[in-house]
Amino acid sequence: MVLRLLKYGLRSDYPVTGDIPVTPTLKPAYDVVIIGAGGHGLACAHYLSKYHGIHDVAVLDKGWLAGGNTARNTTTIRSNYITPQGIAFYKEGVTLYEAMSEELDFNVMFSQRGQLTFAHSEATLRSFHLRAETGRHMGIGIEVVDQKGVEALCPHLNMDYGGALEVLGGLWHPDGGTARHDAVAWGYAAQAARRGVEIHQRTEVTAIEVAGGRVQAVVTNRGRIAAGQVMIACGGMNYDMALKAGVELPIRCYPLQAMVTQPVKPWLHTLVSSVSLHTYLVQSSRGEMVIGGGSDPYQLYSTRSTLDMKEHLAEGAVHLFPFLKNLRLLRQWAGITDMTPDYSPIMGESPVDGLWLDCGWGTWGFKATPVAGKRMAECIATGRVPEILQPFALERFERFALLNEMGATAASH
Ligand SMILES: Cc1cc2nc3c(=O)[nH]c(=O)nc-3n(C[C@H](O)[C@H](O)[C@H](O)COP(=O)(O)OP(=O)(O)OC[C@H]3O[C@@H](n4cnc5c(N)ncnc54)[C@H](O)[C@@H]3O)c2cc1C
Repeated sequence: MVLRLLKYGLRSDYPVTGDIPVTPTLKPAYDVVIIGAGGHGLACAHYLSKYHGIHDVAVLDKGWLAGGNTARNTTTIRSNYITPQGIAFYKEGVTLYEAMSEELDFNVMFSQRGQLTFAHSEATLRSFHLRAETGRHMGIGIEVVDQKGVEALCPHLNMDYGGALEVLGGLWHPDGGTARHDAVAWGYAAQAARRGVEIHQRTEVTAIEVAGGRVQAVVTNRGRIAAGQVMIACGGMNYDMALKAGVELPIRCYPLQAMVTQPVKPWLHTLVSSVSLHTYLVQSSRGEMVIGGGSDPYQLYSTRSTLDMKEHLAEGAVHLFPFLKNLRLLRQWAGITDMTPDYSPIMGESPVDGLWLDCGWGTWGFKATPVAGKRMAECIATGRVPEILQPFALERFERFALLNEMGATAASH
């Protein structure tokens, strides 16, 4: 990328390389079929083709490229989780984001401006100390800051001194940031397609054929496709998709909403989040205020947004930054999130041979796009689950070896 900048920086004939080649006709068989052309499916295809020499890959999507949660999320990237296993995994994710524009030769606009989570109670502060200790032990950037520290990092914040929601301190994570979500998906797609991976949009998987305990094929609205190996990366539809192969995942689906305001000049230079208010904010590169919070309180397969949630998010945002009351909302939207009981993903083997799971990404999977893609590609190419993924196995629920990340996930994603 640096060389290209030098070579083409002042010229008008920069060759367009971001295009995705036209999709060829669907073949009757592939070595690998990936269900879901979201960030995860596309990243896996990229790593399979670039690092493992596996090119006979089809990525199938019932809709369009990155039309699921990949382009609906609020782009928080961070590694300040609670469990050592979670931190190790997401830390690798952040490292891969740092090099992603280079890796994909595509500017994903990774902006590492840090994340600040507010504590409004002594109990929250105590939990921050625990997270900071664990995080430091695992080698990530993380520290607890006092009120002065919060004010220095976020001078526009309403500290609410003496009020019901006084900010007592914060958890500062300088490694946190954002990236442009559709650029991530398109970057992976373009790289994979250039190496022979076929991306078939409007191709819905309606059944998965299993015989003798092994996956045989997927059935689509465009016909049957035999497959040596199949990976499920269907976002909010992961539970339903796994069930097609007879695998019941411990997943329940809830809508998650977010909204953006009209753009304003840059003023919020970090990602901020309040656990007690269930509200987080980030200013996009266009200047919009992106505002999100917790999931809807009921299970539903719907991407409709609600007035209730709009009011709740607006209330939280205006409490933290009262001057935001002057901004107009531009858009509000929702995605269907596949939530696990411990707020950690399910990755690796399934009970069906040759069927791989990249599921349970709930409200937190965008940040994991590169590391999940890279490590799932390793699973498919070698037939072995790398150590870093082993704690996320489906069978952890049988062993009661849960990885509880609820406290680090609920309001920050
Ligand atoms: C409002 C919101 C905010 C979020 N904020 C964050 C955040 O700040 N940080 C973060 O890390 N995460 C966040 N997330 C979560 C994150 O978006 C997801 O975990 C992540 O995008 C999952 O990526 P994926 O590729 O697995 O799934 P998706 O991007 O959902 O892709 C799955 C694909 O599977 C396809 N599919 C489904 N069924 C079929 C079928 N039968 N046949 C073929 N294809 C099928 C879909 O069309 C879709 O394109 C947020 C989510 C939402 C909804």
